[in-house]
Amino acid sequence: QPVVGVLALQGDVREHAAALTACDVQVRPVRRVEELDGLHGIVLPGGESTTMSRLLETFELLQPLKTRIADGLPAYGSCAGMIMLATKVLDGRPDQHQLDGIDMIVRRNAFGRQVDSFEEGLEFDGIESGPLHAVFIRAPWVESVSPDVEVLATVPDTETAGPAAGRIVAVRQRSVLATAFHPELTGDGRVHRLFTEIVRAS
Ligand code: GLN
Repeated sequence: QPVVGVLALQGDVREHAAALTACDVQVRPVRRVEELDGLHGIVLPGGESTTMSRLLETFELLQPLKTRIADGLPAYGSCAGMIMLATKVLDGRPDQHQLDGIDMIVRRNAFGRQVDSFEEGLEFDGIESGPLHAVFIRAPWVESVSPDVEVLATVPDTETAGPAAGRIVAVRQRSVLATAFHPELTGDGRVHRLFTEIVRAS
């Protein structure tokens, strides 16, 4: 079984661990640098990216994790995890660090006050059998991507989506995947399944 880490400094670690376990991988919570050894993939949970960034520094994980991802460690980030994986953040804190896993610019808390949290059915490229029920909680969206980043999902143009309509909310570059929403909270295992397939293939 491949070993998939879940960064366990902050955020919805348990939910990701449960979703991964259902995909027949061995899950390892990661808090210390030694726990990166022997990983086949890592998940960066949803939570608070500024706090996560600060804790990554405190636990001396920032640079080692960034290096592992640059060397090809498959990674998946949801929401705050997506923010961590971006090369650049808009509306972030000036001292917020990035893991540079996907060549993209994300806007933090992009959906604005009226739509702090909302739910949508999304068409997700590479995921079969019907739209994905996506939960957004103070979510970022992807402002722009470099040409070698695949866009996997955008917000459909519905009444609830408002100004978010058409915005990019799921992307992949090589073996790094990110979603602005939280599949770990809905019991729909298809995104985690996709990620563990990426892990197994690499
Ligand atoms: N707004 C949070 C941040 O900036 C992300 C929210 C989430 O992960 N649900 O990190």
